[in-house]
Amino acid sequence: MTVNESIPSLVSSQKQFFLKGFTKEPEYRIRQLTRLRQIIVARESEVIQALRQDLNKSEQEAYTTEIGIVYKELSHILNNIKRWSKPGRVKTALTHVGSKGMIYPEPYGSVLIIAPWNYPWQLAISPLIGALAAGNTAMVKPSELTPAVSALITSILEEAFPSEYVASVEGGPEVSTELLKQKLDYIFFTGSVNVGKIVMEAAAKHLTPLTLELGGKSPCIVHEDAPLKLTASRVAFGKFTNAGQTCVAPDYVLVHSRVKEPFIAYLKEAIMDFYGPEPLSNPEYGRIVSEKHFDRLAGFLDNGRLRHGGRADKEMLRIEPTVLDQVTWDMPVMDEEIFGPVCPILTYEDINEAIRAVQSRPKPLALYLFTENEEVQEHVLSSVSFGGGCVNDTLMHLATPYLPFGGVGESGMGSYHGQYSFYTFSHMKSVLKQTNRFDFKFRYPSKNGLSILK
Ligand code: NAD
Repeated sequence: MTVNESIPSLVSSQKQFFLKGFTKEPEYRIRQLTRLRQIIVARESEVIQALRQDLNKSEQEAYTTEIGIVYKELSHILNNIKRWSKPGRVKTALTHVGSKGMIYPEPYGSVLIIAPWNYPWQLAISPLIGALAAGNTAMVKPSELTPAVSALITSILEEAFPSEYVASVEGGPEVSTELLKQKLDYIFFTGSVNVGKIVMEAAAKHLTPLTLELGGKSPCIVHEDAPLKLTASRVAFGKFTNAGQTCVAPDYVLVHSRVKEPFIAYLKEAIMDFYGPEPLSNPEYGRIVSEKHFDRLAGFLDNGRLRHGGRADKEMLRIEPTVLDQVTWDMPVMDEEIFGPVCPILTYEDINEAIRAVQSRPKPLALYLFTENEEVQEHVLSSVSFGGGCVNDTLMHLATPYLPFGGVGESGMGSYHGQYSFYTFSHMKSVLKQTNRFDFKFRYPSKNGLSILK
């Protein structure tokens, strides 16, 4: 079958399956997600292997950032599906005396999930769990840049589900484009800002609701009172995990000028500690996904003054964890989301200067603030809009199923994880159940004028 022939028939078979009503039952959803978990557990070593093949992810990183997160999401959601699926009763206004206000969470229908390459497993499977928990059918379009993981996703989903319920459709932009032409019931997209705009335009044609999980330049502010050794370890962890190819990686560091030098010294120490003196030959250090991204990143290495790293191996698609100092806002490295192991350092004198610098740029997906000063914490948190983030840490806000994860402004719209995934993939149908025991005449038109005055 050609892509153009198969996609419309796949969508139509998913719509027919949805109408059969099986997915409306929470017990059905629980059985399906439990089955998915069993298959993932049985094939876990294949997931680790595929992540190694596509991105040279170490087993430890694969587990903590891709597999473990999915298990946590699965068990949290499985434990709560029944409760979240129940219709909820809400208060009614005085004008509605005698009636009941009800909210029925209902699945949208056929959902499309488009995933990126940087966490190719987690970012495809985690939204899928939410979509199925809420009772939808789903099509997953994994990234063409991580072919081993994409093929494995297809194979696992084929083993777990019939295609009219859940299907993986592999391919690049041409396949996404074809999928987006269909009349779908919900679109969940994770990827770049530019493609996000294309997806939103396609969704607008059918007025399909959507979530956009996008990217951007996430700042990391290190204030003068921060404990610098610990801060540097946590910044290095956030910046260099997956060789910097993390949507919520600290893109750049804004450090108070008084502590810049000791901070850089500790940052170098942390990098040496994590990856050793020769990261390019460390088998546990990740690689850049493609030659195109490698070339783009290599172009940043001469920006500002090199303080650490800076070497790259094109054949292995590896770039050392690199620290750049004396960086200014007009340099190429500050112009676009870096998405690689390059850490520019800029300084500020006064926290308001740092706040203004962030405020004058698109709203970031994440913000990290290192300070123990609660006044500074509250000042920054109340002044700057960003998707989510951490105080005194990096990345960890996305690893809990209790916090909604998503962007704001150019970094995206909508959120997911845990309960927020369930609600993202559900329409909240409001119903007023009226009593027939009595009636208020005053709401009806009266040929004699206002009935309330009679
Ligand atoms: P991308 O936008 O290039 O691709 C994402 C997906 O969209 C892929 O499946 C791709 O095949 C598809 N796609 C590409 N071009 C398309 C087109 N013209 N029409 C329709 N679909 C198309 O992003 P990427 O390079 O895979 O990922 C990197 C970006 O994703 C970064 O900007 C990063 O910040 C962002 N990201 C965001 C999150 C988040 O949770 N907010 C997570 C990971 C990555």
